[in-house]
Amino acid sequence: MENKSQRMTKQRRIILDELRKLTSHPTADELYEIVRQRLPRISLGTVYRNLDVLSENGEVLKLESAGSQKRFDGDVSQHCHVRCVSCGRVGDVQEALPEPDVSGVSAPGFTITHGVSEFYGVCEACRGGDELAAPGGRIRQ
Ligand SMILES: [Zn+2]
Ligand SMILES: [Zn+2]
Repeated sequence: MENKSQRMTKQRRIILDELRKLTSHPTADELYEIVRQRLPRISLGTVYRNLDVLSENGEVLKLESAGSQKRFDGDVSQHCHVRCVSCGRVGDVQEALPEPDVSGVSAPGFTITHGVSEFYGVCEACRGGDELAAPGGRIRQ
């Protein structure tokens, strides 16, 4: 007894549900591995498509960064991120920071609408419990 008029499919609901439980800002592939435990027959393509729809609807955040895989965040409240320069892992910045002031910012051919603060650091796993990794250390991606 399927309800065809249902706005959100069961798959989409489970994807959203699992993403909201995570604070790891997973890539679509990582989320697929998790969702598959509840929906063994789901395909990676379905996960990708649903994440696109969810981000268009503003129900999840899509975090894009040049040269690395998109990551997703189930927390859509305004918050800033920190990215590990070594492995690309993304974490949440605890402090509520204002959006950057763009009133004095210009670029030829563009109308600036808003800015996003992003921070960089080294995550615990990459630091390996030792002293802080040397600046300019290995950067993989
Ligand atoms: Zn790392
Ligand atoms: Zn976040």
